[in-house]
Amino acid sequence: MNKEEIDLHASLKKYFGFSKFKGLQEGVIKSLVAGNNTFVIMPTGGGKSLCYQLPALIKEGTAIIVSPLIALMKNQVDAIRAVSQHDGVAHVLNSSLNKTEIKQVKEDISNGITKLLYVAPESLTKEENVQFLRSVTVSFMAVDEAHCISEWGHDFRPEYRNLRHIIKRIGDNIPIIGLTATATPKVQEDILKSLDITDANTFKASFNRPNLYYEVRPKTKNVDSDIIRFVKQNEGKSGIIYCLSRKRVEELAQVLQVNGIKAVPYHAGLDAKTRVKHQDMFLMEDVDVVVATIAFGMGIDKPDVRFVIHHDIPKSIESYYQETGRAGRDGGEGHCLAFYAYKDIEKLEKFMSGKPVAEQEIGHALLQEVVAFAESSMSRRKFILHYFGEEFDTETGEGGDMDDNVRFPKKLHEAQDDVVV
Ligand code: ADP
Ligand code: MG
Repeated sequence: MNKEEIDLHASLKKYFGFSKFKGLQEGVIKSLVAGNNTFVIMPTGGGKSLCYQLPALIKEGTAIIVSPLIALMKNQVDAIRAVSQHDGVAHVLNSSLNKTEIKQVKEDISNGITKLLYVAPESLTKEENVQFLRSVTVSFMAVDEAHCISEWGHDFRPEYRNLRHIIKRIGDNIPIIGLTATATPKVQEDILKSLDITDANTFKASFNRPNLYYEVRPKTKNVDSDIIRFVKQNEGKSGIIYCLSRKRVEELAQVLQVNGIKAVPYHAGLDAKTRVKHQDMFLMEDVDVVVATIAFGMGIDKPDVRFVIHHDIPKSIESYYQETGRAGRDGGEGHCLAFYAYKDIEKLEKFMSGKPVAEQEIGHALLQEVVAFAESSMSRRKFILHYFGEEFDTETGEGGDMDDNVRFPKKLHEAQDDVVV
């Protein structure tokens, strides 16, 4: 190790208590510390936060971190404060602060105490904040969840569109780091263009999850019994079952309960107290199964989820990947079982019909990929990774035989109509 590397490892230990960098972290950090525009694509849980937190702590000035979720910002600020001498080391700047608090934040920044300033894009656009930030030393800007910039991402936020313009106003030569777990080439291109960092050093981790087993089954009118059978075969294991509608969530949870399975429903229509209760019951293993809409999962970190079932096929490969990705976080078994019927695709198309045409077109294109995936006879893993712009060889790649199509190849006459990607 050279001097720089020794120093980085010392900081890693000092601030985070880790003795090794994870994946591509070290390269990312070196790039950013050297003042380069940097672009990071790593799956959820890959350790993206540290890629900007560590440089922020060791560089002169304040790093501005744009993030869409206030709850996540607060968690990060608390964690950083816990390892620092001074609470001022990290702040959140948002509309919930009162005058005195805002004054304190600005004072800490001006005095060089604050190393990380978390802001929501709405706060960053405020003229008084832009004026203030222009007057202080900014070490770099981090745009977390950078896929929010792109309409092809799964969480488009119009406020993210303006970021480049605002960053330019805060300072002309501020290095930018963009980070995302969205790996599709389209979204990546949007991010680089929109942030005007096409020169960025790009670091992309593999999205392969070798311990996950992918399976797609035809969805028939017996889908509930199929699910019950699967869950009973996996008794005592934790699992998530995703349904499209709240109504279906409620019904299925009840059907499972009647069949002696410990299950609870979770969706945004339940009051906050019930949601927290059901989530905790799942985390504490008072129940085995949570039947949920996609409202469930964001920020849930249960490492030993052993199966994820899609009662309804998701609206994009991206969503499928994120949702199935909640299985097997600990590296252990993770069975991903999706039930597919073409009429569900038509249902999803119908949902979109009220939306603006451009949005419908994107939605339609994303759905066509889902159809291709579900109906394909090629390796599921190869398909997913190809979708994310990654080569995968089922013979040599990790987890190459971990899906239904590879284990149980369809007979030629069944497969010959399949789309080859
Ligand atoms: P992401 O934003 O990519 O989803 P996070 O930044 O939330 O991921 O990190 C995921 C987990 O990895 C966190 O619990 C974090 O503490 C842990 N982590 C990050 N870097 C390291 C490291 N070098 N060694 C061990 N654990 C790490
Ligand atoms: Mg993150």
